[in-house]
Order: sequence, then C-alpha cells, then structure tokens
Amino acid sequence: MDLNGKVALVTGGSRGIGKAIALKLASLGADIIINYSSSDVKANEVVEEVKSMGKEALAIKANVAKMDDAKNLIEKSIEKFQKVDILVNNAGVTRDNLLMRMTEEEWDTVFSVNMKGAFNVTKSLIRNMIKKKNCSIINIASVVGITGNAGQCNYSASKAGIIGFTKSLAKEVAKKNVRVNAVAPGFIESDMTDKLSDKVKEEYMKNIPLQRLGKPEDIANTVAFLASDMSSYITGQVLVVDGGMIV
Ligand code: NAP
Repeated sequence: MDLNGKVALVTGGSRGIGKAIALKLASLGADIIINYSSSDVKANEVVEEVKSMGKEALAIKANVAKMDDAKNLIEKSIEKFQKVDILVNNAGVTRDNLLMRMTEEEWDTVFSVNMKGAFNVTKSLIRNMIKKKNCSIINIASVVGITGNAGQCNYSASKAGIIGFTKSLAKEVAKKNVRVNAVAPGFIESDMTDKLSDKVKEEYMKNIPLQRLGKPEDIANTVAFLASDMSSYITGQVLVVDGGMIV
C-alpha cells in the first residue's frame, strides 16, 4: 500500500487507536494532521514521531463537538496542505451507565463527540473532497453499535448512528469517487478500555475466538487498507475488527 502524496486527518490522533492510525498512515507515506482536544504533549509527541519518518505533520487542537472548532480544524489543515485526501473520524468518548441511572449530560456528551463530531468535521471538509475526488473517509464505529451492550445505551446508539451516517454519505458522494466506510472495533487495548476492571476484561476474553484483546495496530491496518487504492471498489461498508467476537 502506497500513500505517498496523500494527506490524512485523524481526529483524536493523540492517543490509543487514533495515534496508531496516524503512525500507520505516515509509515505508508502520508502527511498527517493530528487533531486532539486536550493532550498537547501527547499530540506533539505523535507529530515528532511522524516527522522522524520523514513525513510532514501538524497537530491541531479542536473540540470536534463544536462546529466552529471543526471549521477551524479544516481551515488550518487546508491552509497547511491545500487538501485532505483521507479523513478518519476517530475521536470518541464513553460515559457508561445503566439507562435508569444515565444523566442527560452523559447522553449528550457521548452524542456530541461521537456523532455530532463526525458530522461537524465531515460537513466542514466534504465540499473540498468532492471537488478533489478520489478521497476516502473512514469512520470509527464499534461492534456495540451492531450488537448493543448493557450500560452503553448512549455509546452504542452513537456508534449505530455512525454506521447509518457512513452508509448514507457513501451513497451521496460515490459518483465523485469519495468513498465512505466504517471500521467497527471489538475490544481494543487503550486508555478507553484500561478503566475497565480485570474481571470485565476476562469476561470479554471468553467471547473472543482469536483469544486475545485487540491492539490499536489491528485497527490501524484496516484503516490503512480502506484509505488506500487497495479498497478502491469498497464503499458504504462496515468492517468488523474484533477477533471474531460477534461472529
Ligand atoms: P482513547 O484512548 O480514549 O482516545 C480518544 C482520543 O479522542 C484522544 O486522542 C482524545 O484527545 C480524542 N478526543 C476525545 N474527545 C475529543 C473531542 N471532543 N474532540 C477532539 N478529540 C477528542 O480512545 P480509543 O480507545 O483510542 O478510541 C478511539 C475510537 O475508537 C473511539 O471512537 C472509540 O469509540 C472507538 N472504539 C474503541 C474501542 C476500544 O476498545 N478501545 C472499541 C470500539 C470502538 P485527547 O488526548 O486530547 O483527550
């Protein structure tokens, strides 16, 4: 896979899955824009790592939940690189709780980042991509957007929403050769899952046929495939990367 000459924007690229995606795309030749919301030091470390691979990199702080921040993110990206060929809507948060205890704030926070964030960033960039053609958008969903999960009504609904968003947008922009796909990770080791107890992790492990938790690189490899011309006849799809968990 060759991404030389391409520019990729990864939201939530300072840590975890987003960081692994940024480094993988850079290793294949892409210049990288890393978006993040608060981790200045970590975002700059990713920038330095990308630069050490001989590629251009820029970190842009922006809360994707806010339309003005998203517009500013895209303006700065275009100002620096004149284009974005690959958009990875990866920024995401959890606020787990049983529905009967879930606060309105927990619901709204998850929806504003996971769903509205993808809308804000994609909406701000889509005209540019349609004009440029041959672009790829990859939305990071989750297996729980397909199966549901007790304690995650807010999160699983937001990820189911991302799948609907992916399929609808794929139909809208296909004739301009802009492809839109989603990746649905299973249980991946990151800060997001570190906060779960060992008991919960063991329970997940029992249901994973490949008998290991996923690594951020497992998702990054799949995103690289969907970003590259190797997947040029694939759009509107959801690729599940979960070690067989929901088979
Ligand atoms: P993570 O380690 O918690 O990292 C989250 C990233 O999102 C960070 O870079 C964070 O930036 C950024 N972010 C959070 N809120 C943001 C906002 N409002 N605006 C901009 N950036 C924001 O999470 P992860 O595990 O890597 O998850 C990445 C994606 O994969 C998420 O969409 C998640 O739902 C999805 N996913 C994860 C798993 C899993 O098992 N880990 C499974 C299925 C799906 P800061 O560093 O600045 O806070």
